[in-house]
Amino acid sequence: PGFAVLGLPRPLVTALARQGIESPFAIQRAAIPDVLAGSDVLGRGQTGSGKTLAFGLPLMANVAGERAQPGRPRAIILVPTRELALQVHDALEPLGRGLSLRMKTVVGGMSMGRQIEALRRGVEVVVATPGRLTDLIQQGECSLADVRVSVLDEADHMCDLGFFPVVSALLEQTPADGQRLLFSATLDGDVDKLVQRFLKSPVTHSI
Ligand code: AMP
Repeated sequence: PGFAVLGLPRPLVTALARQGIESPFAIQRAAIPDVLAGSDVLGRGQTGSGKTLAFGLPLMANVAGERAQPGRPRAIILVPTRELALQVHDALEPLGRGLSLRMKTVVGGMSMGRQIEALRRGVEVVVATPGRLTDLIQQGECSLADVRVSVLDEADHMCDLGFFPVVSALLEQTPADGQRLLFSATLDGDVDKLVQRFLKSPVTHSI
């Protein structure tokens, strides 16, 4: 069965097919319908399993059709490093074009001016490292008040880098009834605290 059967909108399925991606991986078959249904999801899995599309495709479907106000993204994807942010952005941005989704990477070590310009124009989806996103919020360039879907990718890696307090503070700024997706190879310590604090009756998928 292909991606259409999972309930993804046609423009996403077409864009995937253009890249030769026709059959969902296990984590995608498992997680996509749950995310589309609005559930919080806890995904336990390694890089290479296809987790980026597992959260990215239904996230884009869930925020499609909502135009972001300036500085007020509809979805945030938090990742530990600039490299991963660019990778996630490059995987998702071309797929989201058919849904008219605007996406921006907000990370340290790159021009803040261009990130601010994009935010001011409006972006539905922000892919960010926690530090730079926090800076932009403190400068008044970004608010998380309209965020409907939040993703924590490689949550264990983010906690290892000491981002637990910053990530917690960011999630606190998103609406309490928003959808949250957390992916991690391990689920103990600070990662477990994030799960307990921010995920509501999550559906768990291990791969
Ligand atoms: P990830 O685990 O998200 O880093 O994905 C690992 C690699 O698998 C990436 O290069 C993806 O483009 C590729 N990929 C993800 N899902 C699929 C799929 N359903 N079919 C073929 N390739 C895929």
